[in-house]
Amino acid sequence: MAGASSSAAFIQNVDKLLGENDRSFLDALVAFAEGEQFHEGESELVRLDGRKVPVLFTITFPPQSDEDHNVLIFVVDITERRQAQDALLAAQVELAHAARVATLGELSASIAHEVNQPLAAIVTSGEAGLRWLRRDVPDLKEVTTTIGHVVAQGRRASEIVTRIRTFLKKAPPQRDMLQIGEIIEEATALVARELAKDQVTLTVESQHDLPPIRGDRVQLQQVLVNLLINAGQAMAGQPGSRTITLRAGSEDSETLAIMVQDSGPGIQPEDLPRLFDPFFTTKDGGMGMGLAICRTTVEAHGGRLSVASTPGSGTTFHLTLPFSQEHALP
Ligand code: ADP
Repeated sequence: MAGASSSAAFIQNVDKLLGENDRSFLDALVAFAEGEQFHEGESELVRLDGRKVPVLFTITFPPQSDEDHNVLIFVVDITERRQAQDALLAAQVELAHAARVATLGELSASIAHEVNQPLAAIVTSGEAGLRWLRRDVPDLKEVTTTIGHVVAQGRRASEIVTRIRTFLKKAPPQRDMLQIGEIIEEATALVARELAKDQVTLTVESQHDLPPIRGDRVQLQQVLVNLLINAGQAMAGQPGSRTITLRAGSEDSETLAIMVQDSGPGIQPEDLPRLFDPFFTTKDGGMGMGLAICRTTVEAHGGRLSVASTPGSGTTFHLTLPFSQEHALP
């Protein structure tokens, strides 16, 4: 594993095997000083040819009574495990991206309408501006006003397109400092028109001054978009009120809690255990990946996602995420 041609060459170079920033030896000493019997850590071994090998490093200390004064060390090459983990992560990124594309596919009619509105307004304002200009005495004040409208509507259209492009970006997961209020705003903006189309009223109650969380903006947007669209679809066509309440607040000093509650038909008890399974769907043409991806995403952020539902009285999804601990440091 070290790439040494003989055990003598290995012994001679043993001090070079740990990279410059290696902490595993120090951590093992700390464990020993604290009286631990066993210590395990992941590290990198630097081969004699300079190549780095990811390794699992374990050390077992003898009990105090042991006269032998030997320790038992295992160094296991975990290159394949790392590669499998990397491949899994890459597959999750691909899948989450594919699900976002599919979601936007479902929203395409609403999005087209949403982009079309400012474009139509631009044409109307442009035509009005031309009429003011073509008068015998052009009214420049009115022209200025109409051009102002054109610019504002152009910006609005561009914001919609930017929002969609950001949502579709395929990038490795980020760990940014995020304000949950912004994520909620971005997610609700993406689905607002779709919910309005089905006469669903969305109420957002977000506690102010919540500490930041650490995570991936687009992935967390995707979780909320999924929960909101599911809630909207569950209620589409039902008589009576169609409401979604999204509440965000602190559960305790370390945990953010988000709740998405709808007044839909609820979930059958026999479906509940399978709800987060990949490919579980009760919809014609449903993919059944939405909730599976939501849960993977939330857990990758150190949080939890659960559901409670009584058939006939709606469904509530509970989501928790840890607040970033960095903000608490002086
Ligand atoms: P899909 O939307 O493609 O079916 P999801 O994983 O997002 O996949 O959802 C799985 C299933 O969970 C849905 O088919 C639906 O039966 C159920 N479900 C999700 N959210 C709700 C909700 N708010 N109310 C009722 N049922 C829901």
